[in-house]
Amino acid sequence: MGRGRRKERSGDGVGQSAEEQKLYLQDQVLERKLTNADLRTLTVLPAGLDYNEWLASHTIAFFNHVNLIYGTISEYCTISGCPEMTGPGLRQYLWFDEKGKKTKVAAPQYIDYVMTFVQKTLSDESIFPTKFEGDFPASFESLVKKILGLLFHVIAHLYHGHFKEIVLLNLHSHLNCLFAHLILFNHQYRMIDDKETNVLEDLVVALQLRDDTSGLLLASAPAPAGPTPGGAEDEDNKENCDTCNIDGASALTAKMDTSEEQHSAAASSEAD
Ligand SMILES: [Zn+2]
Repeated sequence: MGRGRRKERSGDGVGQSAEEQKLYLQDQVLERKLTNADLRTLTVLPAGLDYNEWLASHTIAFFNHVNLIYGTISEYCTISGCPEMTGPGLRQYLWFDEKGKKTKVAAPQYIDYVMTFVQKTLSDESIFPTKFEGDFPASFESLVKKILGLLFHVIAHLYHGHFKEIVLLNLHSHLNCLFAHLILFNHQYRMIDDKETNVLEDLVVALQLRDDTSGLLLASAPAPAGPTPGGAEDEDNKENCDTCNIDGASALTAKMDTSEEQHSAAASSEAD
């Protein structure tokens, strides 16, 4: 056993020891700005609106929100702190370079590639036409799938590696809202593979976003697992949002300190 150099697993550095503790599943941080019903309404294609236009406007919105939230915590996402692009469940994302070769890159680098690629694609008039006469290319839907998949990786990394900072900056209800919007949109239009979204399936359940057969939400979805004081509904959560965040953050910190041991065991049992 080497000494001197801290391993990620035993380190107490910001973001690293949070691995696999899944702070984002704790009751006090599950609130979001809009109810599921509101978000569901937002994702249904309005009559008379072009399907591709609808995909385009959501894709642009998702990009802007991911960009905004990541931009706020990006100073914490460093090459030394996040040497790999990781998501929950020890998921690691590799970047495909121009030759199609998988390359391991640090998270901030990976996310920079994602944002640059998406920004470039969104501003390409031949792909995302803004002119009235402009047509969407035949490959439009597959490009949207690719973009949303990459943005999902960024969201997965935010939950996995930076949720503590997200809570401290009081951004968790925004992130949850963005996540819920993307998941409900995905239930409707099947843009991201289940193999990708699986890593946050437990959050889908906790936020009561679970897909029904029709892709619609049940109004009375089952309560998330674990202790649920008061069994708050969406409306209550909305009201709590602005008042409980600070308490939520400190409660989380306290919980984190006590569960370091469990975390190590969980992390090593996952390795294959
Ligand atoms: Zn990071």
